[in-house]
Amino acid sequence: MRIGLFGGSFDPIHLGHLIAASEAQRALGLDRVLFVVAARPPHKTPVAPDWARYEMVLLATAEEEGFWPSRLELDRPGLSYTVDTLREARRLFPGDELFFITGADAYRDVLTWKEGHRLHELATLVAVARPGYPLDRMPVPVVPLLVPEVGISSSEIRRRLKEGQSVRFWVPRPVEVYLERHGFYR
Ligand code: ATP
Ligand code: MG
Repeated sequence: MRIGLFGGSFDPIHLGHLIAASEAQRALGLDRVLFVVAARPPHKTPVAPDWARYEMVLLATAEEEGFWPSRLELDRPGLSYTVDTLREARRLFPGDELFFITGADAYRDVLTWKEGHRLHELATLVAVARPGYPLDRMPVPVVPLLVPEVGISSSEIRRRLKEGQSVRFWVPRPVEVYLERHGFYR
């Protein structure tokens, strides 16, 4: 099988993530895309609790063939390093081909990640385009993937919710309803 691991805080998950994931699935012929919810990223602290970010990913992927939420990082104690996630994924899926997918912005400082220079030995690294972040001159070998540029970010969604504005069409409808119920970002 060809398995994609889409890493992110998903704080909250939005259509930019889903469009990127589905384009990657199609372009690379992936049998599965696992949305790996970051538990404790070394460089930032998520706003919504782990369980809520996971539940929103579950809601957003539930109806999509081949999309799965993943607790790979949530269930591991300590900081969430991508290198550990990829090593664990190789143990869990021996014989499968692994692709690590994330936005072009994230790769810009990949060399500051733990063992960032050798991540490409563990999985094919895929960089999806994001407005404002060119796909060339990546610091490590990556497969660049052009996707429709969607200027949606979780930080902008959090800002809008804080100001009481709508995020309709920015997140899947079940996630919008979930956010109305819980109000993590108010
Ligand atoms: P924040 O604003 O809190 O950083 P985010 O929107 O960047 O949130 P993340 O959870 O950090 O979301 O994103 C996970 C991965 O998805 C990142 O590698 C990011 O580059 C990518 N990504 C996020 N939004 C988009 C988008 N609109 N288009 C393409 N890639 C995206
Ligand atoms: Mg981000």
